[in-house]
Amino acid sequence: MNQFAPTRRALIATGIAATLAAPALLRAGPLRAQTAPTAVQTFPSVYPRRFGDGTLFAISDGYLTLPTSFVAGLSEAEIAADQAAAFSPDPATITAAVTCHILQTGDRRVMIDSGAGTSFGPTAGRLAETLKTLGIDPASITDVLLTHLHPDHVGGLLGTEGAAFANAMIHVDTAELAFWTDPAAESAAPDIAKPFFSVARAVATAYRDRLSPFSSEVEVVPGIHSVALPGHTVAHRGFHLAQGSDELIVAGDAVVFSAFQFVHPQATSIVDSDPALAVTTRRTLFDRVSADRLLIAATHLPFPGFGYVERKGEAYAWVPETWRLD
Ligand SMILES: [Zn+2]
Repeated sequence: MNQFAPTRRALIATGIAATLAAPALLRAGPLRAQTAPTAVQTFPSVYPRRFGDGTLFAISDGYLTLPTSFVAGLSEAEIAADQAAAFSPDPATITAAVTCHILQTGDRRVMIDSGAGTSFGPTAGRLAETLKTLGIDPASITDVLLTHLHPDHVGGLLGTEGAAFANAMIHVDTAELAFWTDPAAESAAPDIAKPFFSVARAVATAYRDRLSPFSSEVEVVPGIHSVALPGHTVAHRGFHLAQGSDELIVAGDAVVFSAFQFVHPQATSIVDSDPALAVTTRRTLFDRVSADRLLIAATHLPFPGFGYVERKGEAYAWVPETWRLD
């Protein structure tokens, strides 16, 4: 039996746990994620999607609730209109999924990003628990590919005693690693980004013997190439996955806000290191994948986050992929 494949029992157990939790929550009234930790238990935790001759797992790390003040480059009226158009339940907040990916490629078991760990509050950081439920031993992960070094993407690499993944090589862009471990960059960073450095530095220290920096667009592991998507951070990268006739770009945070950045690609995040470059990157990515009808996934899009981009004049639309049950 493929040791990697989560047992059917584990998958069913995950579903059963959600089903059992639901009636009590319904009786308790409307869900308020910030004040009802049990709501997290109903959050979908894994979507196994067939990819090539294997399976690509989208694994939920939970979600983040952010104020709309995280969005820059739009007027208040545009933010309000986009929130209404997206049927956002609270016009003042954004709910952003946090999703990681795991793919078996040859003899390598590859994870892309690691979720937030303990760095982003109680609604995220569920990766470790979900891997346990699925029967995936963290020690069996051979490679972790990082889109960038923000804490909601690397915090999950840290366990209570340092490295949470005992055997994984950590692949990250050379310039990204240099930036987030540079004291001068930390001193010059805006206040909101300063705490990010300590998490990145802790990761670099915990995995100091297993760091594998890469530069430019290269085949990082067999079948997975890095894609330059700079702007959100200095050397933010996506990954192009190919197996058989299937291909996909895991775009990290090249798009973060589903309600705003398709209809208004000029919308940026207050934590973008170079907002203008982030916009250019986003438009270039959207133009490419819409023209090529190429599947993408991104960390913060609504779970499980697989879909297509449709060009609509100067704007775009997100077309979620129908769940693949084959
Ligand atoms: Zn992020």
